[in-house]
Amino acid sequence: MTFSETSPSDNWHIKNVRIVDPYTHTDALGDIFIAGGCFVSEKLPEMLTLDATGLWAVPRMVDIHVHFREPGQEHKEDLVSGSRAAAAGGFSAVAAMPNTDPVIDNPALISWEGAHGREIGLIDLWPLGAVTKASAGKELAELALMEAAGAMGFSDDGKPIASGRIMRAALSYATMLKHPIVQHAEDLDLSEGTVMHEGQISHRLGLPGVPAAAEAAMVWRDVELSLLTQGRLHVAHVTALGSLEAVAYAKRLGGPVTAEATPHHLLLTDQAVSDWQASPITKVNPPLRPLELRDALRKAVVTGLVSVIASDHAPHHDDEKMSPYPQAPYGISGLETSIGAVFSSLLHTGLMDPLTLLERMTSGPHQALGAWYPGVVPGARADLTLIDPELLWVVEPRTFYSRGHNTPMAGMQLKGKAVATMLGGRWTMREGQVLA
Ligand SMILES: [Zn+2]
Repeated sequence: MTFSETSPSDNWHIKNVRIVDPYTHTDALGDIFIAGGCFVSEKLPEMLTLDATGLWAVPRMVDIHVHFREPGQEHKEDLVSGSRAAAAGGFSAVAAMPNTDPVIDNPALISWEGAHGREIGLIDLWPLGAVTKASAGKELAELALMEAAGAMGFSDDGKPIASGRIMRAALSYATMLKHPIVQHAEDLDLSEGTVMHEGQISHRLGLPGVPAAAEAAMVWRDVELSLLTQGRLHVAHVTALGSLEAVAYAKRLGGPVTAEATPHHLLLTDQAVSDWQASPITKVNPPLRPLELRDALRKAVVTGLVSVIASDHAPHHDDEKMSPYPQAPYGISGLETSIGAVFSSLLHTGLMDPLTLLERMTSGPHQALGAWYPGVVPGARADLTLIDPELLWVVEPRTFYSRGHNTPMAGMQLKGKAVATMLGGRWTMREGQVLA
């Protein structure tokens, strides 16, 4: 019997595996025992044995920034295809952004999304609620009621909260909540009409560019407001030097601020826009930045200034994504390339050790959202990813479980991939195949 023929609900003895567990700060060769959906301390009768020599076992990998498009844009993605993409990518939990149609800005929609996610049962689907009603930036949504219904954080992502007064009110309100305000930081006056980073390459290609200042200016404002109110702020997808300085300033003053980086900003530069001959496949917000900014971002992830890696998984239909550059929507389908892109950028370059790197995809994001998980300890729910860190593979978007095939990593060779994902003791993906 092969691994993929066993019952998904069997009890398991995973032997000879490198346990990389940032929750318990463990990095050691060992065995893992799973029974009744939980980790247990010893081998029990009727356990199946999996020899995982050469693989890493990482508990509860989480991606706290994904777009699953349901309700409203199911031709791009829905909660089923998104959940499958997450399991295929090695994740057992994701936080989904509320910029759907209608916007998820009330407790009824939060409850609906959470229940639908549990019904699908492939991942823990954590709903995020909008900060303002309809994400219109005018009036705060019912944050506390949404939190009571299961919201794990609040964001108008896709749009920044432009009004300083509204942002101040949201952060003040957040002091009474368990979960943070997540901001997509961008000065829309500066970025209007732009499609890529403003620099040598945008000038050469004749494409309108946005300076990193459009992001950094708003991160500085938000950091000041977080310090003023002591409200918890998580800054999504940082790419600018000024953003990193602002987050460092907040941390020096003990402010409740965290920040995240995406795999595509860690792997790629604006050279990709030129390599793809100005194809909108490279259009993403914030845009791919030049080498010096990418390397500064890598350094910030190494030091922990940026404590979260999250994909900003943004699937689009090919017809929309391949329209002319100005009209094409922003975004990269990222769940299924996340581990490969991150390992290629930060592990195989020798910049990070496995435990610290995986902190950014496990305990770091849990802390940023105010969530908690114990790690590989007896009694904990068995959420686990088996990773082959040395596996070389070529990105073939047509094989994605996601409906979005939009990625400038298409055709690239990456090193490192999830080979099995488990949720609550049940395999959700094995050898690349997601369970029906
Ligand atoms: Zn965003």
